[in-house]
Amino acid sequence: MRDGTGLGAILGATLSVMMALPVAASDLLLIGGTVHTGKGTAEAILIRDARIAFVGPAAQARLAASNARIVDLHHAAAFPGFVDAHGHLTGIGMRELTLALEGTASIKDLQSRLAAYAKAHPEGPIIGSGWIETHWPEKRFPNRADLDAVIADRPVWLKRADGHAGIANSAALALAGIDRNTADPDGGRIEHDAAGLPSGMVIDHALGLIDTRLPPPTPAMRRAALQRAMALYAARGWTGIHNMSVTADDIAVLTELAGQGKVPIRIDNFMTPEDSERVLSDGPWSDPSGMVRIRGVKLYADGALGSRGAALLQPYSDAPGNGLVLTSSEHYATIFAAALKAHAQIAVHAIGDRGNRLVLDAFQKAFGSAGGAALRWRIEHAQILDAADLPRFAEMGVIASMQPSHAVDDFYFAPARLGAARLTGAYAWKSLLATGAVVAGGTDAPVEKGDPRIEFYAAVYRHDLGGFAGPDWHLEQAVSRDQALRMFTAAPAYAVFRDNDLGTLEVGHIADISVFSADLMTVPPKEIPGARTVLTIVGGRIVYQEKR
Ligand SMILES: [Zn+2]
Repeated sequence: MRDGTGLGAILGATLSVMMALPVAASDLLLIGGTVHTGKGTAEAILIRDARIAFVGPAAQARLAASNARIVDLHHAAAFPGFVDAHGHLTGIGMRELTLALEGTASIKDLQSRLAAYAKAHPEGPIIGSGWIETHWPEKRFPNRADLDAVIADRPVWLKRADGHAGIANSAALALAGIDRNTADPDGGRIEHDAAGLPSGMVIDHALGLIDTRLPPPTPAMRRAALQRAMALYAARGWTGIHNMSVTADDIAVLTELAGQGKVPIRIDNFMTPEDSERVLSDGPWSDPSGMVRIRGVKLYADGALGSRGAALLQPYSDAPGNGLVLTSSEHYATIFAAALKAHAQIAVHAIGDRGNRLVLDAFQKAFGSAGGAALRWRIEHAQILDAADLPRFAEMGVIASMQPSHAVDDFYFAPARLGAARLTGAYAWKSLLATGAVVAGGTDAPVEKGDPRIEFYAAVYRHDLGGFAGPDWHLEQAVSRDQALRMFTAAPAYAVFRDNDLGTLEVGHIADISVFSADLMTVPPKEIPGARTVLTIVGGRIVYQEKR
């Protein structure tokens, strides 16, 4: 019939395209691997019109499928979509675009990375992040002289991995107007050397002295950062993120990208207090596609443990002082009242036992006699808890949003900072779960890498990636595989009011699915971080597929 030329060939080609792409969306059938539904296991899963149409035996799934595109999992394991319940999307993308100092092995290594970056980027200030000195052979913080020795004529500003401290060279200090007479801002500290000059190290609220003097990222850079971060997250197997401390500018970019179909994963946003006006007056809202949702406000109660900014009930065990309180109870009361009226969610960063108690007390006051269970307010990190406060999360319905890899990183210095007694309430995932609290798992990327496998490994094994755990790491707080799976699937769904259609793979739920090459529920812990992302499906659409 076809003559290979002319109209017949064109018609034939058109017909075959039409047959390959029927007008009605075809089913997607996943078979050939284990499906962990969050409630059990199954052989196959059938997706129709973005939702799950069938979960069960493969033979039955084939019968139910019409026009199905079949995806053979080749013994990989499918899970409900993994969601990072605490990350910073712009920061994740900016880390990819600026000087990345993760894994820096020493001050010498920091210097050589800085020199290489400066050579490749010959103009303007140099901004970097991700260094952490706890393993360094020099056994000290870097200082401005270390940086000046490499770059003296351009500002250099390098943030510690926890984001609560930074090191500046002399040009950056001069740009910020910081000299020996500059007073510490409230909730911040400028470190000095023996001669009384600024050492280059600044902590917590003092970071703003330098941040605000550096040229902010251009809109084009922010857009590039967000796109880079979303693609990276889809490739790691995340189907969503709870995006923390978000600006109105970021929301403008994200909603624009969503309108163009360029948002591959679900983004639930908690705004900075400065940009929370809309959500605190109108309540939560979403872009038309539903991919970018604005849930509420993110606040800070205290700093971080590493830089001794976490607010403790008793002084630090290895230095005077008991940390920094960053938000007053009056400020909480004003924002909480507005949030209650608008049905906006509140998320508060609290690390130290005093920081956590202050937030729990402020929540309790805001909830009043009505209680807070319906509100799903959250404490971000909930790292160090006094024994008296641990049961309050479950009692008050407060979500503990915790990052397993933080424990593994922090246990190198947490025993020194806290002493043995306080460690029993530190990174106490299992104890919190035992009280009935909802524990949502996250990464705090770019503080941590932002990888679901690394977090799952840390949650179930509580060892570092080299397989090491110290005698005081409280391994009894490692959670079961089922608990870890819930921390990254059902709990994040609950924490943003999506448990009615996300978080487990069951008929009627939206098809958000993460597929990894190894079965995280059964392989030895050491094999978890090395599992590859095979497939990431969001709303029934494949947003990442491993190339074979
Ligand atoms: Zn964070």
